[in-house]
Amino acid sequence: MRIDIMTLFPDAVDAMMKASIIGRAQERGFVTICTHQIREYTTNKQMQVDDYPYGGGAGMVMQAEPVYQCYESICRSIGNSRPRVVFMTPQGRTFNQQMAEELSREEDLILLCGHYEGIDERVLEKIVTDNVSIGDYVLTGGELPALVVMDTISRLVPGVLNNGMSAVKESFSDNLLEYPQYTRPEEWMGEKVPPVLLSGHHKNIAAWYREQSILRTAKNRPDLLEKAELTEKERQWLIQQLEGEERHHE
Ligand code: SAM
Repeated sequence: MRIDIMTLFPDAVDAMMKASIIGRAQERGFVTICTHQIREYTTNKQMQVDDYPYGGGAGMVMQAEPVYQCYESICRSIGNSRPRVVFMTPQGRTFNQQMAEELSREEDLILLCGHYEGIDERVLEKIVTDNVSIGDYVLTGGELPALVVMDTISRLVPGVLNNGMSAVKESFSDNLLEYPQYTRPEEWMGEKVPPVLLSGHHKNIAAWYREQSILRTAKNRPDLLEKAELTEKERQWLIQQLEGEERHHE
């Protein structure tokens, strides 16, 4: 998969892209991530990309033409195809794991980062296919959101994670959060690892994972649990657990 990121701050994006799992995934050829400096597509001497908003108001707005030329240049470099363009904006649909899964199936993807007060609406209308927000708050620029989206999508690309299963069985798959995790030592500060995890009994371990996922989701994200598919037996078990904990706290 190839992801092109259009930004005024490629350095901010580059630093993160080279690190850890995503860095290795690029070296091994599973994903290609390219940043593009929108400023390079200006035609004025000062390489200025922003201007005052028509109608007045605070702040500056990024001009349409450099954004458009940057987009055209990317399309040319990938054989004139027109990939989906995801504009990072607080006005978009809130990003989630399902969106990441859907986007990870694209061969090419462009992420567009705004800055200042945003980008001239006319170019957005021309090139943007998806408006995506990372949450109901306003950041100074689209670089952090683009990194969030890029990271989430990249780790879903087959081959990026060494263990193909780890992306399948984690939080938000099946609308459940992941179960708690433990590693060595077996005892730390007097706290022991749950014995079932040391038993080597795979069926019991899988059952424990499932129960813990359900319990954790009920406590931390009851909204998610409403969408999860539980058996009647699991529902009864959960009610008993929650009632038991309530009694314990009284
Ligand atoms: N004036 C814009 C508005 O009210 O919608 C906000 C502009 S914001 C200061 C500058 C840029 O940061 C946006 O164009 C967008 O690319 C990015 N941005 C800010 N918050 C974001 C969020 N929650 N999700 C995605 N992108 C965001």
